[in-house]
Amino acid sequence: LRRYNLITIKTKEEIEYMKKAGDIVYKTHMYLKDFIKPGITTKELNDLADDFIINKCKSYPSFKGLYGFPGTICISVNEEVVHGIPSARKLKEGDLVKLDIGASYKGYHGDSAYTYPVGKITEEEEMLLRETKKALFKGIEQVKPGNRIGDISNAIEEHAKKYNLGVVEELCGHGVGTKVHEDPNVLNYGNKNEGPILKEGMVIAIEPMLNLGTKKIYMLDDDWTIITADRKKSAHFEHTVAVTKDGYEILTGDWR
Ligand code: MG
Ligand code: MG
Repeated sequence: LRRYNLITIKTKEEIEYMKKAGDIVYKTHMYLKDFIKPGITTKELNDLADDFIINKCKSYPSFKGLYGFPGTICISVNEEVVHGIPSARKLKEGDLVKLDIGASYKGYHGDSAYTYPVGKITEEEEMLLRETKKALFKGIEQVKPGNRIGDISNAIEEHAKKYNLGVVEELCGHGVGTKVHEDPNVLNYGNKNEGPILKEGMVIAIEPMLNLGTKKIYMLDDDWTIITADRKKSAHFEHTVAVTKDGYEILTGDWR
């Protein structure tokens, strides 16, 4: 929140580009979800995404090579929170798999994550998915001109608390534009009435990462994968959202 004077305001035309980028991200999610079954490797999912975004959508995957990331999309399983590297790991019944996908259109990005169950999961895990998604929408509902980033953060945190879910604090949402990660930071915890004021034309990614256990996380030796400290499962849902004249518009598809 320290450099919020660098928040960019997008024109209507720029937001149209971002909607196209967001639509590619959404379509990629819809395409991949049918392949999420026991036995498929995360690398196979990654390569399907790569082919779909580049060859089918004539776009470019925003995370491919970003800061040196060695994959096309981030695929994180179970206790992996985010930034999982696609590998030979095979998905199995009962896994939770998080796909975090970015794509661009005319240089503008869209960014959206979704947590998919692999086959049958436990009731507690279903609660984790349902309430993390709900927390995302509690945050999104705070998006309108005049509200502050802290209103989003607080709504997410309050919802997570109700269900005793750990809120990851070291990672957060962000502005989106010609760079995937722009100002401001959109934390998943905080106080109402604090932080930058939302204005029409801002575009932000809101992305709660909630855990069944502790909020504490570690980074694996691969220098990418973030895991929960107690190895309990984690969920992640994310939309890219534009601030409109009187509220918000979700740019990355209409899933709820
Ligand atoms: Mg993302
Ligand atoms: Mg993001």
